[in-house]
Amino acid sequence: MEIKNVVCPFCGCLCDDITVKVEDNEIKAVKNGCGICITKFIKHHVNAVQSPMLKKEKTDENFVNVSMDEAIEKTGEILKNAKYPLIFGLSTTECEAQGKALELAELTGATIDQLPSVCHGPSIMALQSVGQITATLGEVKNRADMVIFWGCNPIEAHPRHFNRYSGTTAGMWSDRNKRYIVTIDVRETHTAKKSDKFIKISPGKDYELISIIRAAIKGQKIPDNVEEMMGVNKDDIENLINKMKGAKYGVVFYGMGMTQSFGKELNTDGAISLVKELNEWTKFSINPMLGHYNVAGAVHVWGWQSGYPFSINFSLQYPRYNPGEFSATQILARKECDAALIIATDPVAHLPNEAARHLAEIPVITIDPKFSLTALISDVVIPCATAGIEAEGTAYRMDGIPLRLKRVVRSEFLSDREILERLIEKIKEK
Ligand code: SF4
Repeated sequence: MEIKNVVCPFCGCLCDDITVKVEDNEIKAVKNGCGICITKFIKHHVNAVQSPMLKKEKTDENFVNVSMDEAIEKTGEILKNAKYPLIFGLSTTECEAQGKALELAELTGATIDQLPSVCHGPSIMALQSVGQITATLGEVKNRADMVIFWGCNPIEAHPRHFNRYSGTTAGMWSDRNKRYIVTIDVRETHTAKKSDKFIKISPGKDYELISIIRAAIKGQKIPDNVEEMMGVNKDDIENLINKMKGAKYGVVFYGMGMTQSFGKELNTDGAISLVKELNEWTKFSINPMLGHYNVAGAVHVWGWQSGYPFSINFSLQYPRYNPGEFSATQILARKECDAALIIATDPVAHLPNEAARHLAEIPVITIDPKFSLTALISDVVIPCATAGIEAEGTAYRMDGIPLRLKRVVRSEFLSDREILERLIEKIKEK
């Protein structure tokens, strides 16, 4: 059986033209996807957790397999006994599970956080203070005659973005010949090599370059020693400004090279303001390059439910938002939380050492289809159906368009949403 128009649950592009060939509940072939997508579908069962399991003591080396009821009971007990639980992850699962996780956080007085606090959090904080002029990826494909990739490398990180939406693709009114592509980065990436112009900037100088461009657009003189300040020569800045003002429809895509470099949300704040100012000359928009496929989903869902997009604390029984104070990385590094529920992520592999180390000292529950480093140090591991392959649901593309994830094969396990619903029932019972 061939299932068409499947959405790829890997990166923020959420490509929705994937065809998956399934025989006897096994994925045999994948068409249209990039290499990462094909691997994600074909190897979804590799290193999968085979049964709910737990350790009787934190120091035990081995897990014992248990029933789902026992795993839920133990998880409920840990969350109920915790004074300051942390719920973290959820950027790679469906919106329905993200909503249930927030409900569980409210019920247990937990702090809930997702990955933006370590990647695109500064973009969201800048958006809250200055707004954002965005465009859908379809609009970019059809109209953009100038594309700027700032601190991102889609050819390697979002493999179909360049060919499908922003680079070589041909839209109704634009194509590669009409599109002028610029990459601004600290090194010459693959995307830079495919661009018409590569502007190499000194590390940590994004804010300075953005500020100089904004000032020059308003008629201020560019200082002669600008190259010493940020590694970019005056002619390149002047040409860039002329191209920006002369474009019919421009778009800036920015990545962690901008959001996590020195200046953080001030860089994004400046870039968004630059795009607003360019709209006095022509049409320009700005979009973040989101990595995990449903980061945007949690931002939307938690925004509706609590008013806040990430780093939300319920310890006073109402939602409070303060990135830094309520960011998972800092809460763990400061050793504040006394239990953690990790869903669809692997903080031991990805978070800084001090944060990961605290997880080894407190009760941890991991809900994940795969056995990860975090699962290894957990007290309870609950396997789930992989969202977008074994479970359906909703996800938001990087440009804020919601798409429906399909189930292409069956799983013996519950989805993240169903597991979280059972946990909510268990906590209410307790
Ligand atoms: S670009 Fe991203 S969403 Fe598209 S097929 Fe590749 S991994 Fe999947």
